[in-house]
Amino acid sequence: MLIDTYGRVATDLRVSLTDRCNLRCTYCMPEEGLQWLAKPDLLTDDEIVRLIDVAVTALGIEEVRFTGGEPLLRPGLVGIVERVAALEPRPQMSLTTNGIGLRRTATALKTAGLDRVNVSLDTLRPDVFRTLTRRDRHKDVLDGLHAAHEAGLTPVKVNSVLMPGLNDDEAPDLLAWAVEHDYELRFIEQMPLDAQHGWKRDGMITAGDILTSLRTRFDLTPEGEEARGSAPAERWLVDGGPHRVGVIASVTRPFCAACDRTRLTADGQVRTCLFATEETDLRAALRSGAGDEEIARIWKRAMWGKKAGAGLDDPSFVQPDRPMSAIGG
Ligand code: SAM
Ligand code: SF4
Repeated sequence: MLIDTYGRVATDLRVSLTDRCNLRCTYCMPEEGLQWLAKPDLLTDDEIVRLIDVAVTALGIEEVRFTGGEPLLRPGLVGIVERVAALEPRPQMSLTTNGIGLRRTATALKTAGLDRVNVSLDTLRPDVFRTLTRRDRHKDVLDGLHAAHEAGLTPVKVNSVLMPGLNDDEAPDLLAWAVEHDYELRFIEQMPLDAQHGWKRDGMITAGDILTSLRTRFDLTPEGEEARGSAPAERWLVDGGPHRVGVIASVTRPFCAACDRTRLTADGQVRTCLFATEETDLRAALRSGAGDEEIARIWKRAMWGKKAGAGLDDPSFVQPDRPMSAIGG
């Protein structure tokens, strides 16, 4: 098991497949992009599958989420999903994506064994999308969402970040749209993980703001702690259900005490937390010929050192060197 000194057990593995992206969301990447990882530094498809194999067979990982950067840009994605689906025990598999390209790949991903997708979409307005992501791809995302639903990658979840002065008035419209299309909407509070270090706590849109805005149009009933388990999203039934809306309040209501996550970057570093300032190099171990047992041992040791919390409220908090896109969100 991947247990830490606070007794938390990691069963959910987030795997970043690339640090590259075809959008430039203002809260994530600068307009000019970033210095991408060099190809030889990236884990190969074989290395990724081997590490996931160790994680599910020796370390108790039950769920694997592929992310990035934009994971649909990874050429070997469908093959990786297919090989992970063949592992024993077979983990649950999901993908967090900006949705661009999903129109073409949704069916192949479903056939390969992917269970679900989370698609990020912050606005229903194409002009606001262009401002937020610096790309004119709104329709591609909507098409990708539709294709994912049609392909049975359900429940299709939609992640939205609200930014002051840009889309902070859209919460009720986004929820009405999500209910109509049978997508499960989750708002994510903006976190200090942008490459530009431009995050400001003052003025950020909080979970409280989001709920106040949603309640102008909807009746929200809390689902309760039991239903939540270790999920980062607090959820509410919308107008009595069955549709739900979630809020991931990483900043104002952190859920670190129930965290069940471990992370692997595209260059093979284990991270115990999005906000960790240290990483553990599994790629070096792999490439120097370590066996599965040794890799499992290194991974366990890394997780044992997981901190109690992200420490956002700690005066000594420092934003990690890597931005969200390079960690894997
Ligand atoms: N490119 C894919 C996507 O956008 O879904 C996967 C990677 S992205 C880093 C994963 C999620 O992180 C997205 O839902 C995105 O909105 C969210 N995200 C990125 N930067 C963030 C930030 N600074 N605060 C909160 N969420 C952020
Ligand atoms: Fe790309 Fe996702 Fe970051 Fe937007 S949030 S720039 S889509 S990695």
